[in-house]
Amino acid sequence: MKELQDKISKKLGFGCMRLPVRGEEMEQIDDELFCKMIDTFLAQGFNYFDTAYPYHKECSEAAIKRCLVERYDREQFLLADKMPIWLVKEPSDLNKVFETQLKRCGVTYFDAYLLHAMNKDRIRDAEEKGAFAFFQQMKQEGKIRHFGFSFHDKADVLDQILTNHPEFEFVQLQINYYDWDSEAVEAGKCYETAVKHKIPVIVMEPVKGGTLANLAEEPASFLKELHADVSLASYAVRYAASLENVIVVLSGMSDLEQMEDNISYMREFCPLSEKEKNAIAKAVEELKRFPTIACTKCRYCVDGCPKQILIPELFESYNMTAQFGESPATTRLYRKAIKDRGTAADCIRCGKCEAQCPQHLEIRKLLEQVSEMFG
Ligand code: SF4
Ligand code: SF4
Repeated sequence: MKELQDKISKKLGFGCMRLPVRGEEMEQIDDELFCKMIDTFLAQGFNYFDTAYPYHKECSEAAIKRCLVERYDREQFLLADKMPIWLVKEPSDLNKVFETQLKRCGVTYFDAYLLHAMNKDRIRDAEEKGAFAFFQQMKQEGKIRHFGFSFHDKADVLDQILTNHPEFEFVQLQINYYDWDSEAVEAGKCYETAVKHKIPVIVMEPVKGGTLANLAEEPASFLKELHADVSLASYAVRYAASLENVIVVLSGMSDLEQMEDNISYMREFCPLSEKEKNAIAKAVEELKRFPTIACTKCRYCVDGCPKQILIPELFESYNMTAQFGESPATTRLYRKAIKDRGTAADCIRCGKCEAQCPQHLEIRKLLEQVSEMFG
């Protein structure tokens, strides 16, 4: 693993799950802008890219091929991809999915390859499907340089997985300052578990799906007092990057402005000072007073909903209204979320969405709150 760690030039990685799009469709990736972002990122000395099979309705990997792989030498960047074990019905599907990914990305190997979104059930599934033997073979063939997993479950499950599978070389965890002590996510406990097993950590969702980039006035004031001109997102990214065992922090950047902001403080990364850590602790205390829904907008819940409810957009409308009050902007957001789609009141309580939610949100109950708020 040391080899990958040494190859990662800086502690900021480009997460390719929220790429710029033309219009509103996730499939319509804006290649021109994506190319500009890639050029900027590489020119500033960063080199780690992370994609996955389902991102952008299965269009992220192909965009990587067009905008990165076909425009740069393979040695100039590191690429991570992930196995969606839920699509593997029988062991022979492992190879089919893996080869599809190599082809979609236009590469002959992945620098990092992960079992995607592991939890208590999925790891069993991966074991039963023969994933570990398959990936060992891919490593021997040079198609995978380093093997790890992304994780969405509690710390005790992580402990079990790392105990049973010493072959994993790294783990990707969702860590942000808001969820560090959260009982639902257990970010802090998961990080400590990885430290205990001496396994390096890649961080995902450091800005909690963008929510920590737009804090309300009160919590934001503690951070703004320190430095009026630095972004709120910078504290979230630097918080994760300041953890000693973290080798790279992924940021799902959607435009040049976000990227330039990230680059400004991650090019010459400086860990958080004690004063900054204290200000973050105060902001968290203040934030916990807001009754918001902890949705990260990962969208894993959306496709399976039989009523086509745009759950993350409804939760965003709810949060914006709870934090900032009702306004034309929040009403617009809500109307857009229900246009040609189900409303919160249309939910038939089948529970399919909750089975997909990495944040373990009680979506059915929360939709009732949304329904009450918006009538
Ligand atoms: S519980 Fe409601 S929101 Fe969730 S998948 Fe079923 S219908 Fe959709
Ligand atoms: S409700 Fe859960 S699964 Fe759906 S977008 Fe939010 S965090 Fe993701």
